[in-house]
Amino acid sequence: MNKIQMKTPLVEMDGDEMTRILWKMIKDELLSPFVDLKTEYYDLGLEYRNETNDQVTIDSANATLKYGVAVKCATITPNAARMTEYNLKEMWKSPNGTIRAILDGTVFRAPILVKGIVPYVKNWSKPITIARHAYGDVYKNTEIKVPGAGKAELVFTAEDGTEIRELIHSFDGAGIIQGIHNTDKSISSFARACFSYAVDTKQDLWFATKDTISKKYDHNFKDIFQDIYDKEYKETFEKLGIEYFYTLIDDAVARVIRSEGGFIWACKNYDGDVMSDMVATAYGDLSMMTSVLVSPNGVYEYEAAHGTVQRHYYKHLKGEETSTNSIATIFAWTGALRKRGELDGLEDLVDFANKLEAACIKTVEDGKMTKSLSLISTCENPVILNSLDFIKAIRETLEESLK
Ligand code: NAP
Ligand code: MG
Repeated sequence: MNKIQMKTPLVEMDGDEMTRILWKMIKDELLSPFVDLKTEYYDLGLEYRNETNDQVTIDSANATLKYGVAVKCATITPNAARMTEYNLKEMWKSPNGTIRAILDGTVFRAPILVKGIVPYVKNWSKPITIARHAYGDVYKNTEIKVPGAGKAELVFTAEDGTEIRELIHSFDGAGIIQGIHNTDKSISSFARACFSYAVDTKQDLWFATKDTISKKYDHNFKDIFQDIYDKEYKETFEKLGIEYFYTLIDDAVARVIRSEGGFIWACKNYDGDVMSDMVATAYGDLSMMTSVLVSPNGVYEYEAAHGTVQRHYYKHLKGEETSTNSIATIFAWTGALRKRGELDGLEDLVDFANKLEAACIKTVEDGKMTKSLSLISTCENPVILNSLDFIKAIRETLEESLK
């Protein structure tokens, strides 16, 4: 068989622990035999990040800006325990945070639907994609624990010294205050990423805040979204027959539960944090979620939504058998290959990505799965496979579909 050829390289970001093991298996079994893989490789494994003082993470993000599409393996975000485990020079920042800051992106997460894994919400027959704004609000807050009676004020001092001052509260005893912010620039980027992704995937976009209560703060989000929609996207949305829909956050949650899915739900930072966990859990779990970082200038980075599956890795190191689900990591590769194919006009690459995804789904629907999947599947007599055998089973299904 002739291998599928690529034009532009993908930026390949390798990672840590069990997902690093799966990464190699996926390349060896499911990609290299079929595609003449062209990648620019960056090792984001913690050891090499430490060796390069995290420069490799920055380089990989800049390469993504250059080439446009990246695929990333899960990586360790160091904490105190990892400092000792890996003998780190510094507690390096989360690679995802660093990459997101450079690409100025928004993360879109969507479940991978498989027959036999039934969402808790029975009418959700299509995926709901959550887009979470990843800057500001309560995640960059300033807080004061008020010790006793006194006056709390909100003060903005302009560069020329003029002040805007608002009374927050006159305390007659102890209490608490919090200052939060966002920027029009970040909100606009978020809005553009959401509108672009909706156009890209031809899905409706929902956005909700609490603007009836937060008449300036949340209202600003609503206005920026509406303004960008009217000026830049309305025409395209109408041409594609998709809709932009704004409502109050409490109305949105009620509608989401009653819906059949099949749309993008744009959430402010906190709403997205909470709702993405709810939606992921309701559809199955994180091992069946895709995640893509979309920058407002049309750059894409695909990854799995789960972490490095540390517990399985330690079993693997002890020589014990693991049954780790590789589907989300495979979908990171297929997402990136399909996007590369679309950008480069390579129909066979797009077709291969679609077939590999279909092969993953068919393999599970045929009853062959990993242990974690068998626990959430209604399949009567699942065949539980180890990490490598599961990937080999997907390869068999794939080869059948390529005949
Ligand atoms: P995790 O890797 O997502 O795993 C948590 C647990 O979920 C696992 O122990 C496993 O449960 C189950 N699980 C997750 N993915 C699975 C899969 N593909 N197949 C089967 N089971 C799966 O989260 P963590 O253990 O809290 O974090 C480990 C490391 O990942 C941390 O160092 C963290 O910094 C990093 N992390 C990275 C990313 C990223 O790069 N995007 C995201 C999150 C966390 P059982 O053990 O019960 O089988
Ligand atoms: Mg959370």
